[in-house]
Amino acid sequence: MSDMQKATAALRLANKVVFFTGAGISAESGIPTFRDKLTGLWKKYNPERLETASAFRENPSLVWGWYLWRRHQVSQSQPNSAHFSAPRLALTGRQVAVITQNIDDLHERAGCEEIVHLHGSLSQPKCFACHRGAELTLEEAQIPEEGAMIEPPRCKRCNGRLRPAVVWFRENLPAGAWKEAMRLVKNCDVLISVGTSGVVMPAANIPEIALAAGATVIHVNLIDVSLGGTKELMLIGKATVVLSELLNSIQHLAAPGKA
Ligand SMILES: [Zn+2]
Repeated sequence: MSDMQKATAALRLANKVVFFTGAGISAESGIPTFRDKLTGLWKKYNPERLETASAFRENPSLVWGWYLWRRHQVSQSQPNSAHFSAPRLALTGRQVAVITQNIDDLHERAGCEEIVHLHGSLSQPKCFACHRGAELTLEEAQIPEEGAMIEPPRCKRCNGRLRPAVVWFRENLPAGAWKEAMRLVKNCDVLISVGTSGVVMPAANIPEIALAAGATVIHVNLIDVSLGGTKELMLIGKATVVLSELLNSIQHLAAPGKA
């Protein structure tokens, strides 16, 4: 049996499925990872120098302008068929959740209902001083120009500067997100890990934690990222292509006990 056939078989028997996603799933929507070299008017900056609390303290307008521009880039992109595979699977009656390392909102826009953002979200700023979440639509924020510095708006409660509620270098994961992720991972039948690099800790441990809890782990990636476990399946290829094939093979099959 091929890994695709085994993956189909595991999914047929599964009631609880968790999608664990990384930059690879959004790359197909045209969203760059920003971890490597920057291009265009941002190319004189090192991303590691823009994604820290000290960078924000030093030059809040530069960092705010950079994130607003990224948020604008995301708003111009559309979720792809890989993002839609989670809500598609939920239609079969299975319990489906998404744990993502991505800070874009493409899973939300694809119609996923249960999403844990391990590294925060670009679309929900918070106060740099009092840490309270704030609401700010992109329209209210103003459409940024590439490379433009923009003074961050102020917190309505304490007048502190708003910052993006994403996890910067050397910061901890958002309170509650890791706990919720662990609850989902330890209780799922199948974990589908899509486009994750396996290097950003502690998120990179998630497939291993799922395996230890007895789940089947299906990796969908451009390269072999399997860890050598017996309940691991490796589907190599583009997430949009691989997940469409996987979903097509089970979409008419209701969750076990719900047929
Ligand atoms: Zn505040």
